[in-house]
Amino acid sequence: MDNTTLEELKERLLSLKQEIITRIKDNTEKINHIQIKGDEGDFSNAVYSRSIIYDLIEKDRRHLKEIEESLYDIERGLYGKCHKCGKDIEIERMKAKPTAKYCIKCRSVIEANKG
Ligand SMILES: [Zn+2]
Repeated sequence: MDNTTLEELKERLLSLKQEIITRIKDNTEKINHIQIKGDEGDFSNAVYSRSIIYDLIEKDRRHLKEIEESLYDIERGLYGKCHKCGKDIEIERMKAKPTAKYCIKCRSVIEANKG
């Protein structure tokens, strides 16, 4: 991977990271503001709203972890290399998904093994 592309993807990862951290913070505050009180209908609505936001936070946390792992790979000079076979990951794939860890070939093997 050339340096220009690497810098570009790093910038994207860093701004994405900031975006996600802000969103997790916002959603955590939202959860704290959902009042669980009132009649039974209000109660189940509040529980439902909370669980939706919890799911969003969990999803963001997983994504954040992937981003941090990618940034760590950049530091170690391993970014853009497949974690399974060690070959360079297709550049178009990295641009489409800057947190990709596997080349298309290994990814499809992993997906297939998931059943
Ligand atoms: Zn591979």
